[in-house]
Parts: sequence; C-alpha cells; structure tokens
Amino acid sequence: MTVPRGAYRSWGGLSAQGSEIVDAADWIERPDRFRRPVLAYGNGRSYGDSCLNSRGSLIDARSLANVQTFDRETGLLTCGAGLLLDRLLDIVVPAGWFPCVTPGTSFVTIGGALANDVHGKNHHAAGTFGCHVRAFELMRSDGQRILCAPDMNADLFAATIGGFGLTGLITQVTLQLMPIRSAAMEQEVLHFDSLDGFFGLAAESDSTHDYTVAWIDALASGRHFGRGVFFRANHAPDFGFLPPQPGRNLRFPIEPPFPLINRVTLSAFNWLYRHSQPRGAAPRRVPYRPFFYPLDRIRDWNRAYGPQGLRQFQCAVPMAGARRAVEEMLHRTLAAGEASFLTVLKLFGAKRSPGLMSFPIQGATLTLDFPNRGARTEALLTELDRIAIEAGGRVNPYKDARMSAATFQASFPQWRDFATHIDPGFSSDFWRRVSDG
Ligand SMILES: Cc1cc2nc3c(=O)[nH]c(=O)nc-3n(C[C@H](O)[C@H](O)[C@H](O)COP(=O)(O)OP(=O)(O)OC[C@H]3O[C@@H](n4cnc5c(N)ncnc54)[C@H](O)[C@@H]3O)c2cc1C
Repeated sequence: MTVPRGAYRSWGGLSAQGSEIVDAADWIERPDRFRRPVLAYGNGRSYGDSCLNSRGSLIDARSLANVQTFDRETGLLTCGAGLLLDRLLDIVVPAGWFPCVTPGTSFVTIGGALANDVHGKNHHAAGTFGCHVRAFELMRSDGQRILCAPDMNADLFAATIGGFGLTGLITQVTLQLMPIRSAAMEQEVLHFDSLDGFFGLAAESDSTHDYTVAWIDALASGRHFGRGVFFRANHAPDFGFLPPQPGRNLRFPIEPPFPLINRVTLSAFNWLYRHSQPRGAAPRRVPYRPFFYPLDRIRDWNRAYGPQGLRQFQCAVPMAGARRAVEEMLHRTLAAGEASFLTVLKLFGAKRSPGLMSFPIQGATLTLDFPNRGARTEALLTELDRIAIEAGGRVNPYKDARMSAATFQASFPQWRDFATHIDPGFSSDFWRRVSDG
C-alpha cells in the first residue's frame, strides 16, 4: 500500500509520502517481502522526521497492542510494543499501578516511548522510560527474534533504548510499574518573576516533589524577563482510583491556511494562562490526566499551526552553563520576533539511562515550539543549536526535523559506536540526514 497524502505524519506536520505501509503482523511473518529500508512507526508523536522513512517502508506497529501479562502483586507488565500508553493507563491505574515515567502525551506507543527513551516531569527522581524496562523482544530484518535485557544481549538492549527505532522492530516489552495509592495528584502552583526564581524553586523542590516543571512566558521582556509558573506535584497518598477525569473529546476542527499562533494571539494566551493559574502554594488535588497530559484534551491541536506545521526545539545543557544558556536562548528568541507557544523549562537529574543514545543529561532542559515560517525559523533554530552545543549540551533528535549532521554528532559523540548496532535493513529520514551515510 502506498501512503495517501497526509497519512502517517509526524507531529510537526512532516509527511511520510512515498513510503510503503506495512502492518507489523505481515512484516513479522515475511520481513523479506517488503521494500527496504524499513522503519517502525508508533503513533507519530515525534515532532520531526525520526519516525518517517520516505525511501522505504513504514511498519505500523499499532496492531501489536495486546497485554500479555500483568502481575497485580509486583507491577510487572508485558505487552505488545504497539499498545498505546493511554490504553495501558486505563488498565493499570484502577489496579493501583502507574508507569514510572510518562511523557506529556498519553498518545504514544510503548515501543515509541522505548525507542526514544522518553522522559517526564519526574526525570530528577526516576530517570527515563528505559530505566524501568526489564526486557523486550527485538525482531531484526533477517528474521531473528532476539530477547534483550540488562543481562541478555546487553549491547542491543542499550542500543535500542533511545535508538530511534534503528536496531529492529520491538515486538513486546516488559515494564516495571510503580505502585500508587490514588489516581489524583497533589499539585502546587507557584509563580516566579525571573530565571533565578525558577532555578531556586527547582533546586528546592527536587527533593520534596516527584514531578516538577515550569512554563515560561517567552514574550516577557525587560523586568518581566524569565517570569513563569512552576508546577510541582506528588501522587496523592489517598483519594481512591476513580476521581472524575475531564472529557477528552474536543477536536481541533480544521487546519487553517495560516498559523493561528503569532505574537498577538500568544500575548493574549500568555496573559490568560498566567492569570488562570491559582496563586499560593496550598496543595490542590487534581486528576492525574490533566496534570500529565494537558494537551490531550484537544485532539489534533497541532493543526493550529497551519499547513507548514510546527518546529519544536529541545536542548539539554549541563548545570554549570545552564542559567546563561537558557537566558541567551530566550533573548535570541525575543530578538528574532518569534513566538513560542509552549516554552517549558525543567531540571534533569543525575540518574543515568541504560540507553546508549538517550537524550537527557544532568542539567536544564528548555523546550520551545514555533510555527514553521521557513528560513526565518530555521535561522533561529540554528542559533539555538549553536548556544546549546557551545554550552556543552545537546539537541533532542526526536523533537527535531532539521538539525545539521554536525549538531547531531556533537550532541552524541558516541553515535559511531551506536551505528554498529543498527539493523542493516532499517533506516529513517532522520538517520540519513544526520549520519554520514
Ligand atoms: C504533546 C506532546 C508531548 C510530548 N511530551 C514529551 C515529553 O514530556 N517527554 C518526551 O520525552 N517526549 C515527549 N513527546 C514526544 C513523544 O513522547 C515521543 O516522540 C514518543 O517517542 C512518540 O511515540 P510514538 O509511539 O508516537 O512513536 P513515533 O513517533 O511514531 O516513533 C518514535 C520512534 O520510535 C520508533 N518506534 C516506534 N515503535 C517502534 C517499535 N515497535 N519498534 C521499534 N521502533 C519503534 C520509531 O521508528 C521512531 O524512531 C511529546 C510529544 C507530544 C506530541
């Protein structure tokens, strides 16, 4: 089947036009029958081109969605790699368990979360998704099925966690979940006036709160520069497992011909957002879904960026230079006249991932996203890349669609070692862009 225009996109709006689409079950049966190179596609929540493969086939992994075992005593769960996190939550939360790490959307597959070694608001406490993977099965393009665990095929285990789907098709995953006593969160919301305010709150909260994250008002300048809202939370110690969850069936209705995100709409949004957040540190009970997945309430919200889509930028910078680098990036963004809708700042902790190419390093991580305005946006992003690399940091590949090979290779100096583990039958648009091959 050749891909219809618009189907199989990345979240930033790039299309997989030209790929042949293969169901995972068909590929598993006869991997030699389909156009090479191949690449697994999870649920397309990567922003850039790391989930696309326009010169070959995309294996749609979502049919591998069964839960094979779930031990309610130990929290060990084995499932197909195409299972959506959203579905997993529906199964495990009422039983008193929760994923140890979750990204900011529940519409990812377990295989996609593993292949990008995603992180969440609790990175400082729990590390990455890969830290909690106990085992997985990998199918290579020569038909071999390889069981990987920390003590079994350890090299492939490390290369696949955060390996951008390039080491083979992950078919099933065994995860350790964590016990919770409630499906509610106890959240505190604190306003800060400057970047120093953020760094102070983050340092103070990392030992008391499992989840921390901040929103920055990226349009604020002068004496308001660096202001934002800091969220910190823990799972509530008691509250039962079925608090009311807000409805999630809103859908962004159309794709407008131009981006709705611009400086004017964003100024209004930022004002509203800041003023709608309660002031004062008194903890409030909130259901877990709006806390972890605020954007999941509106399906297809990325349509607001218009036909050119959006470009996300995320970097991680070591602590020593973090304050200066973040300040410089925000100043550059202001000077470029660009409007970042979701500007998120967080501290990553020291816990190391087992993944060879995992993105997080200890320090600060800044995420910005912009409507794609072509050369103008590209120029700003290249500048942000430079600041991150000069500060000894790195740029996140699965949020990106355009970084140069030099930026990627400076971000991940171990990339040649990783390349030795890539399945020769696999590749992606991203990999062709950033590797020498
Ligand atoms: C609103 C939003 C919020 C987000 N928040 C966060 C966040 O807080 N933290 C974070 O880290 N990320 C975040 N992300 C990014 C997202 O979590 C990751 O890109 C995730 O990996 C996407 O998973 P997916 O199932 O959609 O996979 P895809 O995007 O389709 O694919 C991702 C990668 O996984 C590979 N892959 C998928 N399935 C398999 C398989 N079965 N076998 C082998 N390889 C496979 C693909 O080849 C590709 O390289 C966010 C994205 C959105 C849209």
